Amino acid sequence: MSTEEASKPTNFIRHIIDADIAASKNNGKVATRFPPEPNGYLHIGHAKSIVLNFGVAEDYNGTCNLRFDDTNPEKEDVDFIHAIQEDVHWLGFDWQDRLFYASDYFEKIYEFALELIKAGKAYVCDLSAEETREYRGTLKEAGRASPFRERAVEENLDLLERMKLGEFKDGSRVLRAKIDMASPNMNMRDPTLYRIRHGVVHHQTGDEWSIYPMYDFTHPISDALEGITHSLCTLEFADHRPLYDWVLDNISIDCHPQQIEFSRLNLQYTVMSKRKLTQLVEEGLVNGWDDPRMPTIAGLRRRGFTPASIREFCLRIGISKVENSVEMGMLEATIRDDLNSNAPRRMGVLNPLKVIIENYPEGQVEELNSANHPQNEEFGKRKIPFSREVYIDREDFRESANKKFKRLVLDKEVRLRSGYVIRCDQVIKDEQGEITELRCSYDPETLGKNPEGRKVKGVIHWVSAAHAVQAEVRLYDRLFNHPTPDDGKDGVDFKERINPQSLIALNNCMLEPSLADAEPGERFQFEREGYFCRDTGSEDKLVFNRTVTLRDSWAKEEQKS
Ligand code: ATP
Ligand code: MG
Repeated sequence: MSTEEASKPTNFIRHIIDADIAASKNNGKVATRFPPEPNGYLHIGHAKSIVLNFGVAEDYNGTCNLRFDDTNPEKEDVDFIHAIQEDVHWLGFDWQDRLFYASDYFEKIYEFALELIKAGKAYVCDLSAEETREYRGTLKEAGRASPFRERAVEENLDLLERMKLGEFKDGSRVLRAKIDMASPNMNMRDPTLYRIRHGVVHHQTGDEWSIYPMYDFTHPISDALEGITHSLCTLEFADHRPLYDWVLDNISIDCHPQQIEFSRLNLQYTVMSKRKLTQLVEEGLVNGWDDPRMPTIAGLRRRGFTPASIREFCLRIGISKVENSVEMGMLEATIRDDLNSNAPRRMGVLNPLKVIIENYPEGQVEELNSANHPQNEEFGKRKIPFSREVYIDREDFRESANKKFKRLVLDKEVRLRSGYVIRCDQVIKDEQGEITELRCSYDPETLGKNPEGRKVKGVIHWVSAAHAVQAEVRLYDRLFNHPTPDDGKDGVDFKERINPQSLIALNNCMLEPSLADAEPGERFQFEREGYFCRDTGSEDKLVFNRTVTLRDSWAKEEQKS
């Protein structure tokens, strides 16, 4: 069902690349990069950028680099570096031998800073952060020149050298570009190029540097050094493009990649800011970065998403310059489509209710044949044991019900999937009136066919009590119960909008025996219940995570409200 192979996407970025190739720009070469900051795990928004950058490279016989944009040592961590690589690979992309770190270029970036100083295009500024803000002016008002703007070249060179050697306190000085304090674009009002970060240990360069280049200075240089042709980034960088171009126009580098912006993915019922995701993890509101409710790639993987479904989702949402918010239902529909075609069927009873089939011989076991997929014979069949005592789901029984309830009712019949028709003869209750057991009888003439003259419409799932394996099943749902949890409206913090029903753990589920051998990460449809995958983080315990329900139950809710 994957449309991925069937058609290549078209979008405005690919049109630009087509035109560039037709005009032999960059000698017809296409080189992109995916530049994450290693300060958190990758999320579904990053997947959009990964699919775009690696996808473009693939389709144009180009290359895509993985580059860690590591200029903020305090927030970064090698664990994130490993996790990011794992996630990009898992999504199905490969940077081959092109793994880079912006920190690889610190020496060169520094050389370019010296060049700018020597050309009178950068200066060391001693204003405090607050003063700098004041001097910068506003959108309506031009900024004022820093008193340090006309510092002599020699003094600037000396001060930057000493900043580098660690002679000055954090925040006491910065290196700034000398551009235009009256520019209508605030980013061009002498932006900071370097700041002091004293005594922090960088995960790649250790304590070698006491100054770190800013993103806006690092990024164009890194792109150019790697020979990137098309530097694709999200819309909020559009206002930074003049600075990107200024940097490359004013240093001695002969490569000038083209920055092109596209809109970021916003997904309803979740948050995507790494700062907020970090908060959820650090405050224990979720169980780590790979909690199956997180929008992280690691979370989606543990939840049971396939790499193909995430790639397909990214293709379905497309690439444009229009800011929008994608419905969570779209992501869920993609994995549902994938698993509907590709997940074998199994039976699992989530809320077991014991059924004793009184006319079935004690000690007898039959192996019933059941198709692993209703539409696709290639999935083959499996044997499921049937015996005198089975479990059905509590939800599938009522003492009395109207005709709409096509399950088991007292004194009525229902078919056990791939098995016999049974009739409920008696309901057993405990002292509190809670149903503990059903007494039923089966019709031996009904295996695989409807009894003459009787129409049994309802079919329910079941497992043989003696053969079932007990498991924990975690019913995951959307992490937030609000479509835009971090909109800040009504002064409500996003954490107050966590869906208390986002994880319901059922400890006493009864599954058909073959599921005991499921591999961690293996996916199934539990008939009539949804799609599930064996948890990868539960050691020897048998735990299944619900990936997605069979139908979109939120769509109905949303229509109502
Ligand atoms: P945050 O601001 O939450 O830290 P970020 O955008 O700074 O996120 P990076 O690690 O810098 O995160 O992102 C790496 C790349 O992924 C960038 O090119 C960025 O534009 C892209 N990206 C990040 N979030 C999204 C998103 N929601 N949709 C599309 N692309 C995204
Ligand atoms: Mg960033």
